[in-house]
Amino acid sequence: LPALLAARSHGLTTAVVPSEQLGEAELVEGLTVWAVADLAELVEVLNGRPVCGRPVPALAPTTPDEEQAPDLADVEGQQSARWALEVAAAGGHHLFMHGPPGTGKTMLAKRLPGLLPDLDDSQALEISAIHSLAGHDLHDRLIRRPPFADPHHTATVAAMVGGGARIPRPGAISLAHRGVLFLDEAPEFGTSVLEALRTPLESGVVSIARSGATVSYPARFQLVLAANPCPCGHYGVPDSHCTCAPMMVRRYSQRLSGPILDRVDIHVAMTSSGASRLRRTAGPAPESSSVVRARVLEARDRQRRRLTNTPWRTNVEVPGAQLRKTPPPPAGLDLIDDCIARGRLSARGVDKVLRVAWTLADLAGRDKPCADDIASAMGLRQVETMGGAA
Ligand SMILES: [Zn+2]
Repeated sequence: LPALLAARSHGLTTAVVPSEQLGEAELVEGLTVWAVADLAELVEVLNGRPVCGRPVPALAPTTPDEEQAPDLADVEGQQSARWALEVAAAGGHHLFMHGPPGTGKTMLAKRLPGLLPDLDDSQALEISAIHSLAGHDLHDRLIRRPPFADPHHTATVAAMVGGGARIPRPGAISLAHRGVLFLDEAPEFGTSVLEALRTPLESGVVSIARSGATVSYPARFQLVLAANPCPCGHYGVPDSHCTCAPMMVRRYSQRLSGPILDRVDIHVAMTSSGASRLRRTAGPAPESSSVVRARVLEARDRQRRRLTNTPWRTNVEVPGAQLRKTPPPPAGLDLIDDCIARGRLSARGVDKVLRVAWTLADLAGRDKPCADDIASAMGLRQVETMGGAA
């Protein structure tokens, strides 16, 4: 797919592909594609024999679209984390979920792509090309939904950002392009692997140097981090016993500090609510993804309209200097000043609060953040212990 896209952009009009790749090749419009079964057939075709009938695909393609995407209706309780996920989806914000094992961090992360807008045609081609290059079977159709990548914490730098012996393959961050990159047990990832995320988080692109050449892949992903409170997972959890040395607990929480968390606008602390996820408590059933997604799409529309004539489309992209051009209402300003005075908010933290407050206003259908939005945005950064004041 990427080869044919490149061929088309260089003005070529005809391409020959192996017959089993015809379906994928036909996703590129405006190109005549010849499918041949083997080199002998190619020679015949090049000697003037007409390309005979289209080969029948060996296997009936499965239909990934019909696979049920995980739904938020399955997640009981965790109201604040559900809300954080919705806000993250609405503004494109990176999200950090912090809490003991079994609180539903992974369940929620897997449901984020289902809240995001469909990919448009050019995004669908771009993302399908990346996945084709990674050797994924596209089942002869374009990827239309934001992808989800969740590399294991033992992933190498090459697996994360791309690499390989001869032709560098896209890594997890490119497979998550315009979708979600989920790092479960984030502090367990190698320091160099986490470090390798810094530049792509800034630029949305990753460059891989090989002898004599550099390959660049797009990598504009929404990052979701999950972390346990300590290596054993029980630190600070009521009615449980942490077996980690105090030094280990501190080191664990510091592993994520700095440049990565600097980019994460929303922090949410999750608590184990016993069996609440299994036992339906009184009250309405949890909202489904489609209900939440409708609000997210409306909030995205508001952003797009407001950010017309700017280089940005979602709140996460808007730089601090731009955010500060629209001062919050006096009551919101007082809140911020108070937090700064008490050392609970840094200059960078202020930008994050403003950025999230805009998304809250977008979700509520307001033209700009009110004082309540500022207060709620502060509430979405409640994990100050992990990595210090962020
Ligand atoms: Zn522990």
